[in-house]
Amino acid sequence: MSEVLNYDENCLFCKIIAGEIPSEKIYEDRLCYAFRDINPQAPTHILVVPKAHIKSVAEISSKNEALVGHIFTVVAKIARREGLENGYRVVTNCGPDAGQTVPHLHFHILGGAKMAEKMV
Ligand code: AMP
Ligand code: ZN
Repeated sequence: MSEVLNYDENCLFCKIIAGEIPSEKIYEDRLCYAFRDINPQAPTHILVVPKAHIKSVAEISSKNEALVGHIFTVVAKIARREGLENGYRVVTNCGPDAGQTVPHLHFHILGGAKMAEKMV
């Protein structure tokens, strides 16, 4: 049970962080929470989210940039822990054109197999 800054009662990930919806927790600290994606697109597919309700990359600013830096430190730590030494992809979808379905900033960690397609 974690406190969420700017908790949004309509937000799935705020509910997951608060423990109102179950998740397979991978990592947690004061600032962020990580759990397995329910519909994995790779053998390892983990989502890392801030404990503050920030909608997307579009809401990153000088006020919360340190939090985003921290999340990337956590991404690297989780990847090491999960044994992704052959590499992994970190993806964040921002807004409808990018296909973002949950409007709470999240970073996908995808790895565990050679990826078939490269978009960029
Ligand atoms: P995006 O489409 O980038 O917004 O990513 C949202 C992700 O959340 C998708 O990969 C979904 O599979 C995942 N997801 C949706 N509901 C849950 C849930 N209850 N637990 C874990 N992952 C979820
Ligand atoms: Zn939220």
